[in-house]
Amino acid sequence: MSDVDFYAARMERAVLAAVEAGLAGLIISPGPDLGWLCGYRVPAVTERLTALLLAPGRKPLLVVPQLERADAQHSPGAGALEIVGWVDGEDPYTTVAGHLDPRGRYGVSDATWALHLLALQRTAPEAGFGALTEVLPMLRAVKDAHEVELLAAAGAAADATYETIVDVRFAGRREREVAADLARLLREHGHSQVDFTIVGSGPNGADPHHEAGDRVIEDGDMVVLDFGGLKDGYGSDTTRTVHVGEPTAEERTVHDLVREAQQAAFEAVRPGVACQDVDRVARQVIRRAGYGEYFIHRTGHGIGVTTHEPPYMVEGEHLPLVPGMCFSIEPGIYLPGRFGVRIEDIVVCTDSAGRRLNNTARELRVVR
Ligand code: ZN
Ligand code: ZN
Ligand code: ZN
Repeated sequence: MSDVDFYAARMERAVLAAVEAGLAGLIISPGPDLGWLCGYRVPAVTERLTALLLAPGRKPLLVVPQLERADAQHSPGAGALEIVGWVDGEDPYTTVAGHLDPRGRYGVSDATWALHLLALQRTAPEAGFGALTEVLPMLRAVKDAHEVELLAAAGAAADATYETIVDVRFAGRREREVAADLARLLREHGHSQVDFTIVGSGPNGADPHHEAGDRVIEDGDMVVLDFGGLKDGYGSDTTRTVHVGEPTAEERTVHDLVREAQQAAFEAVRPGVACQDVDRVARQVIRRAGYGEYFIHRTGHGIGVTTHEPPYMVEGEHLPLVPGMCFSIEPGIYLPGRFGVRIEDIVVCTDSAGRRLNNTARELRVVR
């Protein structure tokens, strides 16, 4: 299949899904959705409007600043698009609004600038707009075989990063320095973009979104390492918790418990199981052992051309797993002021079970 046919088919499926969801179409601004849908990656996201309009019964319309029109025309899916340029001084919102059903409801990419959406709302006051991941959460959720392999390759690169980092020295270095090692290694293993390099040592590990700071890692610290980014356009995201020197019995117990929860949730993965059940299985293991109040976040999130996206493994998410869905399973226990443990793999739902895209050992690793 040519690139043009590939993107044309993908956009056609998106239009069908939008119609099924009761939408008049989709308005996609620069970002992961745009690249995924039509193959156009903008040179820079700016205050000048770029928007892709997908609607039934019309060729996909890409409205771009005239000065970026050539870039758009050279994108791999350009042949499937009607490309309209606008020059400074013109009102691009009128151009877009002219192609909208004046009373239709549209899904708009989540990260569309307020500047653009507010102007569109002023120009098409009767139209409705909803955030894409709310009105069409499953748009990118089910990956095709090629996407799964790209995610597997990103996962393997993150695994190789982990295998190298466990041999570096931790004790006596700042979290920031280890984080810099992680970022460098991810790039060495083919990542074009590093999204996060969490190094949570000792008490900092009890804060799940602590990035990396000036704390000097000490002998006796648990250290949460959570890192990922994009390789060839697809995401990686893995967590292992290591210990500097010999762990205490309690540290081992907590780590074993998280590992057991992560394994149980992984074993629960199969088509038809509700996303919330993956969360429940992990949570139940931790709750039964008396640590329920210390597992303070959902069990997982989808991953694809972004590192956080639907589907979410969270209480209340009734959506059933479908073969091709890729998501994290990352239970944790966070003991305030003391330490945290999290173990995270990306998992793809296959026709019958789960397949891990991260495969480094999950046993507590002792580092120097
Ligand atoms: Zn310790
Ligand atoms: Zn993570
Ligand atoms: Zn994650």
